[in-house]
Amino acid sequence: MSGLYIHIPFCRKACTYCNFHFTTGQRYKNDFIQYLKREYDARQQEWPGAWETLYFGGGTPSLLPTAQLGDLMEHIRQTVGIENDAEITLEVNPEDVDTVKIEEWKEIGINRISLGVQSLSDIELKAMNRAHLSANSLLAMNMLVQSNFRSVNLDLIYGSPWLSDAAWSDTLDWAFSCGAQHISAYALTAEPNTRLFKDIQLGKTPELDDDKQARHFEVLQEFVRKHRWEHYETSNLCKPGFEARHNSNYWNNKPYMGIGPSAHSFDGKRTRRWNVSDNLQYVSGIEKGQLNFVQEELTDHEFINELIITRLRKQKGLNILDIHEIDAGWETLKRPIILEMSQKNLILYTDNHIILTERGRLFSDAISRDLMI
Ligand code: SF4
Repeated sequence: MSGLYIHIPFCRKACTYCNFHFTTGQRYKNDFIQYLKREYDARQQEWPGAWETLYFGGGTPSLLPTAQLGDLMEHIRQTVGIENDAEITLEVNPEDVDTVKIEEWKEIGINRISLGVQSLSDIELKAMNRAHLSANSLLAMNMLVQSNFRSVNLDLIYGSPWLSDAAWSDTLDWAFSCGAQHISAYALTAEPNTRLFKDIQLGKTPELDDDKQARHFEVLQEFVRKHRWEHYETSNLCKPGFEARHNSNYWNNKPYMGIGPSAHSFDGKRTRRWNVSDNLQYVSGIEKGQLNFVQEELTDHEFINELIITRLRKQKGLNILDIHEIDAGWETLKRPIILEMSQKNLILYTDNHIILTERGRLFSDAISRDLMI
């Protein structure tokens, strides 16, 4: 399984909570695809056979003219190629969706859309400085449902100070019945260096409420059960058979390559690298023939800790034998805490696997921390 991630670092507005790499400036936007092509070509020793998944993320890839996205895809097709049944995802913001764009996206080969709905409350959307209103999302989804993409994902945020329990239930009522096949739902977090973080510190925005976030997550789990969806990763749920193949790569420690500023790559073994999170440095590196990135080799401990974090988030859980291959003493070392977690109904400990229970998923970060070395 080999996936290619393509980072498009341009946005209309700066969402208050965002800590991805993006700019609202226009510099390099028109030529950006040419730089991506040059980085892609410069890394041809990393190309696998034909790509099995492509993912345009950002930033806001739907801001770029479709012809530019198609130009890059054609370039990739003419190199190692793209598998016939590849999953090709485009992250799209609701305000960019119209029938013309939809046809263009389909024509260049996009077959999966990830729609940045985030909220159906206009008050919340404005508080988060999103560039769209709820009406844009409803309209966009109506158009997408009729367009027969292989799959549509909805990105949602829960647990914010502006989202009541009732409004979250209403949002999920819509999300599970609007025709989408996949939902990515994340609790709002206030990362340092975001405006949200500063606003909380200044008292302009209320503190995030852990209890509310836990309640919203529990409601999400109730909807998953009621609609018989798969909760296959802590923040990702889908109709059976619609797991995101590209993202599953990350959670399964499979190799992937990322191009564009801030994009991460992993060789599937121990080497990972990430590009500079700065458009000017990214572009000037390419122009000088010196790609700007940082690379590191994971130590045994770092690799085990990554396995614990990523696998525990998955429905299938952590296979202890994967850790044994690297450190045979881990289970003995951690057995007391594992048994305690099991007694508290936070995990299932069976058949060499540790699987979070529904209750355990509420405490997944703390559980991972306790199991790490
Ligand atoms: S649109 Fe997405 S990437 Fe851009 S600022 Fe908002 S959250 Fe960040």
